[in-house]
Amino acid sequence: MGPQPLPQVAALPPYVPGKPPTPRPGLRTYKISSNENPYPPLPGVLETAQAAAAEMNRYPDMGCSELYGELSSRLGVAEDELAAGAGSVALIFHLLAAFSGPGDEVVHAWRSFEAYPIAVAAAGATGIEVPLAPGARHDLEAMAAAITERTKVVLLCTPNNPTGAALSHAEVAAFVERVPSDVLLVVDEAYREFVRMDDPVDGLALRRAHDNVVLLRTFSKAYGLAGLRVGYAVAHPVVAAAVRAIAIPFGVSTIAQAAAIASLQAEDMLLERVEGIVAERERLVQGAAAAGWTIPDPQGNFVWLEPADLPGFLAAGEEEGLSLRPFADEGIRVTVAESEATNRLLALLERIPPPA
Ligand code: PMP
Repeated sequence: MGPQPLPQVAALPPYVPGKPPTPRPGLRTYKISSNENPYPPLPGVLETAQAAAAEMNRYPDMGCSELYGELSSRLGVAEDELAAGAGSVALIFHLLAAFSGPGDEVVHAWRSFEAYPIAVAAAGATGIEVPLAPGARHDLEAMAAAITERTKVVLLCTPNNPTGAALSHAEVAAFVERVPSDVLLVVDEAYREFVRMDDPVDGLALRRAHDNVVLLRTFSKAYGLAGLRVGYAVAHPVVAAAVRAIAIPFGVSTIAQAAAIASLQAEDMLLERVEGIVAERERLVQGAAAAGWTIPDPQGNFVWLEPADLPGFLAAGEEEGLSLRPFADEGIRVTVAESEATNRLLALLERIPPPA
């Protein structure tokens, strides 16, 4: 082939999507490999999205005015503090492209969301990956120590994908004080609605108190709109304007905008479903513990397992009609979904001995 991509493009780490399960005759299978919401769309949300599809010959509202209006009144932030994107993953790319470049450093935990190193490399910046502390939590002490005069952005992922552990508000509030005010601190809250801990992060309070804090939120998880691609950032107006300026024009479709608004209006019902997922997660945690498995405290819609024989565990899952998500040879992330999927996973955890 003639044209070749830039070497840095050829060197980008891959984003590996969760696989669908292998069909098994006579057995219902479960895709629990992508942290998706197992519930189908609410009828009202689906109807709104279908009605919006009638506008598909028109470009979407680039200013997302109705969505910003709805979010602004719900969150108590000004509309110019908001920037929507085609999923919060798009916003990660936009933030890094707008705030870091060659010679700059971006500090983030590792293992964490696999899009971070891709977005860092796409921006031409250098990633400083700080290993997780015991319990698969962010090592905030080491992350603070990793900040140098070259640091432009720090990414916190709480709850952390794929390990599930979350930071407390006190921890993040203390950490912000250690981040210089000209360094962007991105708090990725993709799974915030699933958090059930004593002192959960109050992102909006952090944002109000610090101009360098950016919150990233998504409609993909708790709101069940992963297929429509819509997320948003809450940021200082200067930061939000930079994101909007660099974004691909018309990135959030009319259907996505309409479904996001309808989801906010149907929030009570969607958050009830979240309660159901959290209850399944608790059942999984208790069953795993009873079977002798130690797992990091899961605060998202997923749990992290470190079986001794990772390929063997995956294969056993496939046998049970479960498609799980392996991460290199580090561990397996399992999305909490339907009760039957939980039952089958618990059966696996009882059958397969935990790592010594
Ligand atoms: N942040 C984290 C931590 C995630 O796990 C994900 C999705 N897997 C995203 C952001 C992006 O989600 P979306 O682009 O669907 O909003």
